[in-house]
Amino acid sequence: MRIDLVTVLPDLVRSPLEHSILQRAQDKGLVEVHVHNLRDWGLGRYRQIDDAPYGGGGGMVLRPEPLFACIEALQDQLGQPYDEVIYLTPDGETLTQPLANALSLNENLLLIAGHYKGIDQRVRDTLVTREVSIGDYVLSGGELPALVLIDALARLIPGVIGDANSALSDSFQDGLLDFPSYTRPAEFRDMEVPAVLRSGDHGAILEWREVHRLDKTRTRRPDLLPPSDREESIE
Ligand code: SAM
Repeated sequence: MRIDLVTVLPDLVRSPLEHSILQRAQDKGLVEVHVHNLRDWGLGRYRQIDDAPYGGGGGMVLRPEPLFACIEALQDQLGQPYDEVIYLTPDGETLTQPLANALSLNENLLLIAGHYKGIDQRVRDTLVTREVSIGDYVLSGGELPALVLIDALARLIPGVIGDANSALSDSFQDGLLDFPSYTRPAEFRDMEVPAVLRSGDHGAILEWREVHRLDKTRTRRPDLLPPSDREESIE
């Protein structure tokens, strides 16, 4: 998967891309992330990228010309349309695991991180194909939301995570939350790891995990379950 990220703060996103899973995904050639500074397409001597909003009020708006020039140049370089041009915005479709799963199947994504009041509506109306929010709160810029999206997608690409089963049993993948995890030591400060997990009985372990996934989901996120499955907590 190739991801192009357009931002006014390229330095802000570099470090997270150079660590852990995201770095490994790029090292393995499974994900390519290219960061582009919108200011390179800024207007005039001062590389202007923003301006005051028509109609007045506070906050600046990212102007359309640099965004159009940047996106069209990247599109030309790619030699084909992006599968999706995604604007990260709090009024977009909320990012969920099913949306991440669907987007992870794309080959080429262009992400736009906004700033200030956001970007000129004409960019949204013509170039953007999808708008994604990472939750019902407002951050100062789209860089962190873009990184959240990139991480959520990268870990779903086959080969990025060593053990694919681990990602498949994560919360939300099949509508349930994840089961409780334990590691050594078997006893710590009078707290014991449940005996069944140490029994070597794979059937019993699977059953224990399913029971606890369902129970945790009932307790914490009953909204994820059909009404008929919301009762009967084991706690
Ligand atoms: N005026 C916008 C609104 O109320 O919908 C908020 C603009 S916000 C201060 C600046 C930028 O941060 C946005 O253009 C967007 O790229 C990004 N952003 C902030 N919160 C976000 C969220 N929850 N999800 C995705 N992007 C977000």
